[in-house]
Amino acid sequence: MKRSAGSTTRASKRQKVSSATSTNRNQDKEKETLEWPEYFHDLFKVCQSNQLVSSDSFRVFMSLQIFKALNTVLAFVSSHRHLATTFPMIRSSVEGLLKRPLELSKVAELKALLPDVVEFAYIPHSDLRIHGETVSQQNKRSNSPDFTLHSQSLAIDTPSGSRLPGHEEEEHVLVLEFAENFRTTKSGNLVDKRNQRFKDAIDELMKATPEGEVSMDLLQAAARDHIPVNPSAKKALPATDSQSLIIPEPKDRPSIDDILLEIQKQQWYKNQIADRRTFKEKVAIEGLLAEPLSHTIQQALQESRNITSLYHHQAAAINAIAQRKHVIVSTSTASGKSVIYQVPLLKFLEDNSDATAIFIYPTKALAQDQRTALEQLLLACPGLQHVKVATYDGDTPQDHRRTIRETASVIFTNFDMLHASILPHEELWRTFIKNLKLVAVDELHYYSNLYGSHVAQIIRRFRRICAAVGNQRVIFVSCSATISKPSQHMKRLFGVEDVEEIVEDGAPSGKKDYLVWDPPSIKDMDPGVAKLGQSGPMCEAINLVIFLMMRGVRVILFCKIRKACELAMKALRQRLSAEGRLDVLAKVMPYRGGYSQEDRRRIEHEAFSGHLLGIVATNALELGVDIGVLDAVIMLGFPFGIANFRQQAGRAGRRSRDSLAVLVAEDLPIDRNYVESPDKLYNQPMDDLTVDIESKVIIEAHLQCAAHEMPLSKDDAVYFGATLGELCDSKLRKDKDGWYHPHPKFLPYPAKHISIRGADDDKYTIIDITKVGLPNGAPRIIEEIELSRAIFELYEGGVFMHQGLTFIVKEVSHDSKVARLVRADVNWTTKPRDYRNVDAMQTHRIKEIPRSPHRAYFGRVDVTTVVFGFRKIRGNKVLDIVDVDTPPYERQVTGFWFDVPKDLFGLMKEKHFNLAEAIHSASHAWMNRFALSPDLRTECKAAEKEYNKEESQRKRPARLILYDASRKGSVSAQAFDHSGEVLRQAHDTVETCPCKDGCDKCIHSATCSEGNVVASKIGALLILKALLNLDIDANSIATQFGSQGFETIVEATYIRPLDGVRVELG
Ligand SMILES: [Zn+2]
Ligand SMILES: [Zn+2]
Repeated sequence: MKRSAGSTTRASKRQKVSSATSTNRNQDKEKETLEWPEYFHDLFKVCQSNQLVSSDSFRVFMSLQIFKALNTVLAFVSSHRHLATTFPMIRSSVEGLLKRPLELSKVAELKALLPDVVEFAYIPHSDLRIHGETVSQQNKRSNSPDFTLHSQSLAIDTPSGSRLPGHEEEEHVLVLEFAENFRTTKSGNLVDKRNQRFKDAIDELMKATPEGEVSMDLLQAAARDHIPVNPSAKKALPATDSQSLIIPEPKDRPSIDDILLEIQKQQWYKNQIADRRTFKEKVAIEGLLAEPLSHTIQQALQESRNITSLYHHQAAAINAIAQRKHVIVSTSTASGKSVIYQVPLLKFLEDNSDATAIFIYPTKALAQDQRTALEQLLLACPGLQHVKVATYDGDTPQDHRRTIRETASVIFTNFDMLHASILPHEELWRTFIKNLKLVAVDELHYYSNLYGSHVAQIIRRFRRICAAVGNQRVIFVSCSATISKPSQHMKRLFGVEDVEEIVEDGAPSGKKDYLVWDPPSIKDMDPGVAKLGQSGPMCEAINLVIFLMMRGVRVILFCKIRKACELAMKALRQRLSAEGRLDVLAKVMPYRGGYSQEDRRRIEHEAFSGHLLGIVATNALELGVDIGVLDAVIMLGFPFGIANFRQQAGRAGRRSRDSLAVLVAEDLPIDRNYVESPDKLYNQPMDDLTVDIESKVIIEAHLQCAAHEMPLSKDDAVYFGATLGELCDSKLRKDKDGWYHPHPKFLPYPAKHISIRGADDDKYTIIDITKVGLPNGAPRIIEEIELSRAIFELYEGGVFMHQGLTFIVKEVSHDSKVARLVRADVNWTTKPRDYRNVDAMQTHRIKEIPRSPHRAYFGRVDVTTVVFGFRKIRGNKVLDIVDVDTPPYERQVTGFWFDVPKDLFGLMKEKHFNLAEAIHSASHAWMNRFALSPDLRTECKAAEKEYNKEESQRKRPARLILYDASRKGSVSAQAFDHSGEVLRQAHDTVETCPCKDGCDKCIHSATCSEGNVVASKIGALLILKALLNLDIDANSIATQFGSQGFETIVEATYIRPLDGVRVELG
């Protein structure tokens, strides 16, 4: 599973095209004149009859003619600096010289051939001032009739070449010019020089073209990436005749069966379907209520939702609630779960108009959707129209809060508000809580790991307050996606026992096809295609998205990370613009976390109202935001776990329609695993969700809050568990009557000291300043991103992507946490060059590993991330390497570590193990056996660094180190307590795992930031054995080939403990 350090083997033809020119750049210009131009001149005469129009030679000739004409025109323009070189203007002049139309695609070819000479892109209108004068001034001049004649046609050209009238105030203009560095000398010989450059480039291209291929086809394909996209074009254009594939209305689309047959007939289909499963359609199973609904509720359901009967699981849940049981329903996406909260609420309100309820959703978007649905239902219910429903979250203005407390019957909120606003002010909420009948917690699977562990304590605080005001009868009802052991999860989270578990899904579902899509490996591709970079998982996914949309299939593309989401959106823009399908482009939108609330609402609305055909999303959309009916889901790369895979797949298909879910495998170990054994996607049990209700650190934090809400006594152990007494005595303050109060250091607001989401709250604000300085142009906040991401995405000169558009980072202030960007339509991206060192700094605790002389250490860990530069990248090609000077991002966290024993270190060196592989895999093996690992991190090893051909000065200690993902985290302390036993479990798992080179059960981690590429199962096993003091037979270990490059790992040095630290028993 090793890759070469660079991906030079994948050099594309387009790269050859460009690199040919760049090697030429510094070459002597004395190169003898090529002979072909004369030959082509003759040829041109011969083939005027158009018989040879498609021949390679003729096309080369035509390109030369275009270039020459362009060169002449631009030379003139640059000697008249007041003329802006917008494409429409240049075009008409060039057309005048050529006596034939100048196609946009031809200019893109020139750009592909000479990317550093030809500048062809949209720029903000305001930037036209670069040429010395504004456009309006230019319009007034007319000292050059040849060229200003068309200057009023500054209207934006669309990629298909037709002009949109009435766009004088367009935000962006398409500029065509030659790079500045070619302007410096006198224009006379400059024209010749440029023409020679062009001929040289053509010559190089032809030389680089393999036997049997057509050089101009390669150029044409490479040019696709250079067709400029107008960032401000919003209007859909009618498709041109040649591409007038009419898209069917989604309701009239072909069946998935037919579409799959059609896919297999495409010339780009190369047996990518590695596995196909078809799940038959399921009919509805209806359920009966033990006690029929009142006439008014029945009527409201029918009127507002067209519901006349209930599914089995809905009826079962309503029946259980009527018996005053707590309920968890775990069924598929879109199985009508909201009815399970709404109907019992209506019944409570009918019985008692003072009844209140709390609805809790993990995201604000979800809460908004559901609030609207509930309001509609109430309005359709005679007698309940007056019931007030309100959102109570962080955005609720202070002066509304009182009215809400006093008048609302139902509030939509979240656990953050419960923790920091409602519980601390329980006296203001007393009436509401006294009348509280129902607490609905949707998407229960969302509450796990560190956040879930905090939520568990918040619910205990909440139950205690309810009981204190005399309300012992609150019912908790929850729904979740399909999870393992739902009732166990609910019992742990809520601390209640009497839970009814409902898992039988009565909702109907259409037929569903699952595909595992294995992109052809580079070596199996047609050389031309592979080298052009028209391959790889991203390309395949984009192909599928376009193919499906063209057939009226509503599709969502899930990407694992934001960057991939933006790149996919950019690729879609490029492809669809190049094909002249702006009508389709107008129906695709990206959606991911980080977008401003306003943007998200707009996208959700567009999606829900059925205007969209395609959505490109990160897992921000995984949590049931209702975006309407989708027909297909495409996952670019295996998502972070089986549960995510199933939830994402569940996004497509409802009721009676057939649907499709496609996993496009990436070239990563985890993905390969599922390509080889696709059964696991459907059969493998899901991991249990983790909630740690024994963590003393978390319990103590919430005891400080609880004591502030109402003094604690030892009787409160019924809520907080057996450690309450010990924690109260050691961490809280006892008064003379025996009540416990918060420790003064947490006052006056203990809740403010606890970050229940753990993650860094610090965010960078991203501001678009493109229009600053223009009339009405103001800076615009487009995003907020976390500090931990900002370091990798915000560096001066870097390309930042937002909604598939590219921006250049102009300025970053790490003090005020603000980045300023300008819109720039560039056709490259940037990738930071960085490293992250995780260093043990101070030992606070030492613990024995049972039956071993080796130890585990716990203490302060410094995490230093340095972005020292970036690469400009287009496709697979690195255009440039740039150094930047950003301050290192340093964090102090807690963590623990094991040092690789010295004897083993020597042995592994002797046997040529790659120690980085072994350490990386052993760390992940340990994490895979520890339940709260999603909140831990390790120093992931990157292929680029470990397999580098040049020696790096950066050497890392031979140490397995794990640390808290969050500065406020406490998981590593718990992990350390179990370090020895988890080590043994990790060893046993790796030793007995039937896989050959590692899999996600043993040494691969779905959260590995470097894709598990640097990995060694046998190396990991040796380290685990050595730490546990198990026998290793040195003679039986084969010599490896792991360490052919430079060793990046050196022996670990001992980290001195603080005074008085004693070795704890294992
Ligand atoms: Zn394995
Ligand atoms: Zn890793």
